[in-house]
Amino acid sequence: MTAYDTENIFAKILRGEIPATRVYEDDETLAFMDIMPRTDGHLLVIPKTPCRNVLDATPEQLASVIATVQKLARAAKTAFDAGGVTIQQFNEAAGGQEVFHLHFHVLPRQDGVSMRPPGQMGDFDEIAAHAEKIRAALD
Ligand code: 5GP
Repeated sequence: MTAYDTENIFAKILRGEIPATRVYEDDETLAFMDIMPRTDGHLLVIPKTPCRNVLDATPEQLASVIATVQKLARAAKTAFDAGGVTIQQFNEAAGGQEVFHLHFHVLPRQDGVSMRPPGQMGDFDEIAAHAEKIRAALD
C-alpha cells in the first residue's frame, strides 16, 4: 500500500497550515465543512492521526471516527430538519478517493432532493452559516 503523504490537504488542515471551517473536535477526531458541498451541511470527519483510508486504519482510528460521524450525522439531521443522512467513504483513487487522509462524508438529505454535482466550490458565508447551525445542534 502507498505510504501516507504528510503533505495531503487534510494533514495541512490538521496542522493549521490552511484554514477550515471547523465544527467539532475531540482528542482523536476533527469534523469540518467540505468546501465543495454536495448538500447543505456537507461535513467531513477525519482522525487526527495519519492513515490513508479504511484499508490501513487501525480499529481504534475507525472506532473513534465512526463515533464522531454518528455525533455529527445526528446534529446535521437536527440542524437541517433533514429526512435522512448519506454517509460516504472512498478508498484509493480507483475507489473514488481524492484526498488521501481517511475521511467520511456526512450529507444531510431531504426527500426527493438530489446531491449537487461534485467539484463546485461553495459560498464561504453560506458554509459558515451552515457550520454554525450544526454546532448549535450538537449535544
Ligand atoms: P474524496 O477524497 O472523498 O473523493 O473527496 C475529498 C473531499 O474533500 C471532496 O468532497 C472535496 O470537496 C473536499 N476538499 C478538497 N479540498 C478541500 C479543502 O481544502 N478543504 C475542505 N474543507 N474540503 C476539501
